[in-house]
Amino acid sequence: MEFIPNEHGFLEIRLESIGGQGAYSAGQMLAQIGVEGSNLHAICFADYGSEKKGAPVKTFIRFAKEDVTILNYSPVNEPKIVAVFHELLFKTQPVTDGLHQDGILIVNTDRTPEQLRQMYNLNVKTIVTVDATKIALEYKTKLNTAMLGAIFSSLDFLDASLAADAIEKMFGYKYPHLVKPNISTFMDGKNNAERDELASDADKVIFTRKDTPFGYTTQNMGGEISGPNSYTKNLTASREGMMPEYLTDKCIHCANCDNVCPDFCFVWEEGEDARGRAQMFLRGIDYNYCKGCLKCVEVCPTQALVSLVEERDYADEHRIKKPFNFLGGVK
Ligand code: SF4
Ligand code: SF4
Repeated sequence: MEFIPNEHGFLEIRLESIGGQGAYSAGQMLAQIGVEGSNLHAICFADYGSEKKGAPVKTFIRFAKEDVTILNYSPVNEPKIVAVFHELLFKTQPVTDGLHQDGILIVNTDRTPEQLRQMYNLNVKTIVTVDATKIALEYKTKLNTAMLGAIFSSLDFLDASLAADAIEKMFGYKYPHLVKPNISTFMDGKNNAERDELASDADKVIFTRKDTPFGYTTQNMGGEISGPNSYTKNLTASREGMMPEYLTDKCIHCANCDNVCPDFCFVWEEGEDARGRAQMFLRGIDYNYCKGCLKCVEVCPTQALVSLVEERDYADEHRIKKPFNFLGGVK
């Protein structure tokens, strides 16, 4: 994509992610490359959720030519490019809202752009997909630099050769051992991005923006937040490719896993032991809450929990739902 500014002189990008995926760092590197090597002005800022990890995060990058001063710090509502850091965000967030008619949608997924277009009925002109999670697992990095590579595969106005410098600046001081693997992650993301473009202008996406449920006139009295909050969250998008697998036969129901799990993923039921005494038995894991930290795997004394490279649909097929029907449960 060339630098084609909007009516305010900006070219705007929005990164849709989950806290912990490193989207803000990717946005900072994009802005830095624009300023230091491409003669542009740039700003990068983010709209965080209430939690550090696990909550949806929107990162906004705004570019302008050198003769345009950027004084606008409002969220990017009509981006030219949207990058979605996990395919699951399509189910939980309006990630394509406001995407420009000639826009580019970049998604971390193991599907092809054509499959994605069909699944979510996407009319956006250009779709780029990359399996950023797989690349990051290979280099033991985060998927943000693979996504940065995929973004660069579609941009002509930023100099990709400066990415190595930006990565060095981001990681070199605190984590020098991560510089090389992140450069490799970036290159693989760039080289493995798949692209699909609609031939006809008639199929371009139309600008839409959903109403927000709460605003100045619709907020509950006293700012009350209704609904069961975290019980409705799906943290699947927080996982970075690894998850625990539960092997029932090896479990001694000691609850070590439950004690260390930060998100109360383990589902228990009452039963009787061999002598007929009441005891709680572990039934399994509600993967909708699991962010893949693998703390439970570390503490399990019998290897009834082992780490597993996440496969598509495994979590849905092996999920034991939390018995919270009175709150509506996790969808
Ligand atoms: S730590 Fe391991 S053995 Fe103990 S309850 Fe959890 S899965 Fe079972
Ligand atoms: S990996 Fe284990 S400890 Fe971590 S969130 Fe998932 S179930 Fe809980």
